[in-house]
Amino acid sequence: MIQRRCRMDSVCPRSKEEDKSMEHLCFECIFSKHIWRPSRLNFNFEVGQSTSVEDWMTNWFKITPDDEVVIESIKVLWGIWLHRNKAVFEQIVADPSTVVHTLNQMKWEYNKLANNSKLGSISCR
Ligand SMILES: [Zn+2]
Repeated sequence: MIQRRCRMDSVCPRSKEEDKSMEHLCFECIFSKHIWRPSRLNFNFEVGQSTSVEDWMTNWFKITPDDEVVIESIKVLWGIWLHRNKAVFEQIVADPSTVVHTLNQMKWEYNKLANNSKLGSISCR
């Protein structure tokens, strides 16, 4: 039973592939690819997959000149994390398009807040 449990623990809760690494979660899982794909980041994780998530994030955030791109990256990773948590805690593997929709809503809310913030600072002058 312990062996079986260990084996089960190494299985991705979404794709059921035998890989539960952070790299699988963030880049390699088919569900993650579906969440990354509609973003404007245009990543191709099929190329150069040997990097760790930590190295990727460190390098990506270092070379990315645009804050919007960093925010977009964090949002996609957040969406992947939420999708994974729904599979782990609710045993529901949602359609990745629902995550993309939620992320797009978040973007809209963020832009609305940012614009209100700008308007607020102008009206205070
Ligand atoms: Zn997977």
